[in-house]
Amino acid sequence: KTFKGLGVCDELVEACEKLGWRTPSKIQAEAIPHALEGKDLIGLAQTGSGKTGAFALPIVQALLQAPQAFFACVLSPTRELAIQIAEQFEALGSGIGLKCAVVVGGVDMMQQAVALAKRPHIVVGTPGRLVDHLSNTKGFSLRTLKYLVLDEADRLLNEDFEKPIDEILKAIPRERKTYLFSATMTKKVRKLQRACLRNPVKIEV
Ligand code: AMP
Repeated sequence: KTFKGLGVCDELVEACEKLGWRTPSKIQAEAIPHALEGKDLIGLAQTGSGKTGAFALPIVQALLQAPQAFFACVLSPTRELAIQIAEQFEALGSGIGLKCAVVVGGVDMMQQAVALAKRPHIVVGTPGRLVDHLSNTKGFSLRTLKYLVLDEADRLLNEDFEKPIDEILKAIPRERKTYLFSATMTKKVRKLQRACLRNPVKIEV
């Protein structure tokens, strides 16, 4: 299988090659065609499977067609993971100068507010800090969001992010695409899935 064969556009196939991604990983091969068809996704996959590419490629491809600020938001359980996700988005979107803001705890709020004021295409963050910005950072909203990603959902729920995730769900459009990735399918993950996905395609690797 090739990225082109999955429906990935030439510009992004080239970006993948620059990253050294020659053939799609299993999760990418299974997820990307459904995502490009506009389906919601549940991906059961571990870190190292290429899951970031599996959600980032369809999002960047959609962004290329209709560039706008605050296009997608990715919720991550940790700051390290959030930074890695933002790096992959920026590498894939370097051709259009894709901008990400990373919004995680333990870093100055003001500095992040400045990054948000630049109207990034993608916001990657931990749920608690994102809610802090939704309530305190003037002019920042996620009302134009087209994509929501819940990454490592099992860990998101373990970190007691349930309340901030609820707040975020209230602050974003219902009309959107949602991708949920998790290493394990727990009761809590299933509940979250029912609360925020619509007829999802389930992929297990
Ligand atoms: P992830 O599971 O998304 O954290 O990705 C793990 C690592 O695999 C990252 O360093 C990616 O850059 C790399 N990667 C993702 N997709 C591919 C691919 N199709 N071919 C080679 N490496 C990849």
